[in-house]
Amino acid sequence: MSSTPLETHAKLGRHTMSDVEAGEMTSARRNLPGGVLGGNTLPHGFVFSHGKGGRFWDTSGNMYIDYVLGSGTLLLGHAHPAIAAAIADQATRGMHFFAYLNAPAVHLAERLVSYMPCAGRMRFTVSGSESTFHAIRLARGFTGKNKILKFEGAYHGTHDYAQVSTAPKQLANFPQPVADTAGIPDVVRDLTLVCPYNDLDTLRALVEAHRDDLAAVIIEPIQRIISPLPGFLAGVREITQANGVLMIMDEVVTGFRYGLKGAQGYFGVTPDLATYGKVIGSGLPVGAVAGREDIMDQADPAKKGQPGYVYQNGTLQGHPLGCAAGHAMLDTVEKPGFYDRVFAAADRLRAGLQEVFDRHDMGIIVFGEGPMWHMLFADCAPRNYRDILRSDTQRGAAFDAALTQQGIFVLPGNRRFISCEHTMEDLEATFAAVDRACRAFKNS
Ligand code: PMP
Repeated sequence: MSSTPLETHAKLGRHTMSDVEAGEMTSARRNLPGGVLGGNTLPHGFVFSHGKGGRFWDTSGNMYIDYVLGSGTLLLGHAHPAIAAAIADQATRGMHFFAYLNAPAVHLAERLVSYMPCAGRMRFTVSGSESTFHAIRLARGFTGKNKILKFEGAYHGTHDYAQVSTAPKQLANFPQPVADTAGIPDVVRDLTLVCPYNDLDTLRALVEAHRDDLAAVIIEPIQRIISPLPGFLAGVREITQANGVLMIMDEVVTGFRYGLKGAQGYFGVTPDLATYGKVIGSGLPVGAVAGREDIMDQADPAKKGQPGYVYQNGTLQGHPLGCAAGHAMLDTVEKPGFYDRVFAAADRLRAGLQEVFDRHDMGIIVFGEGPMWHMLFADCAPRNYRDILRSDTQRGAAFDAALTQQGIFVLPGNRRFISCEHTMEDLEATFAAVDRACRAFKNS
């Protein structure tokens, strides 16, 4: 463990690589495929040491402002005192009791269900992927149908039913699915229909044509960073309802980020099932699948052996540490004005960035709503996945790398987040660093 102090005065950006960090990178390359923990690499890799609020440090002592934020888990920033205290307190009373009732989980379920518009009941999971996996199984079990419709470019996790047309390099004709990874049996891939986002006419035609086999439409209410056009989500609701198809709203990213009622409250559309992850555990592994009582009750163990019974279980679900973090998260976001402040900070960030880019004539558009933002070398905000491909993605990736060199941590090509702990000073430091990145980029 590094003992680098939390010096806030240090210069932002990648300046040094200590022997310690170099050794860690070598060790990672030896023991981990690709030298990374998961599916994402960085042009200038580093090893995280510690974080506080909107900033973190690598093990060489370089400081960064964080807009990745644990892939969006850290709406409350790094090492939020309330979250840290809740976890520490729970850890002294026992850390795990299998998926049997424990007090933090029971009380958290009560609070979560009261906010989730679609929730008659809910089950905990430990990740967003588990949540979408179980939601899809529930939809299939409940309807007795096999097919799932998803939107091109939407991400719903790592399992075989989700790794289809999330970021296809080769575009297929709709509704043909494209597997994103080797290892997905063709028969599984072929249970998926793919539709362009923000296109109700295509959706209506597909749902009507496949209604007898189609269990559910799964949708990210804001697809990655693409906002729904006015009426789009309501249209999805109307089309699914009219055709006896369930609507699963994947709120893994939007849940508790766009208000206590998530995207369901923000856009005023209530699905049959919704999936959660990220913000609930604020960095700990907590997810949830929630929905109509009659659907969720298919997972009631008393129904074992009956037609339509759906097995939903997991060793670590309802984990007391994660649920303790969930209570601390809710205590924080329930405070009056919490969401107004985060939304206002995000607006300031977007406006300030656009100003810097315009000053340098970069041809970059900054967009997004609420606490998520993105930027593309393009003229206007995208409406679907193919619009993003039409932007200059190569220049975008190169510029993202330049940003990280200047201490602004973004995941190349991916949407960005902001936490409630990003201060005005963080935003000002961001604008100055982005200004430096623009100069360096133009001179490169
Ligand atoms: N759904 C959405 C919308 C997501 O953004 C993600 C993760 N980025 C997932 C599901 C999967 O969540 P996890 O990585 O926790 O499995």
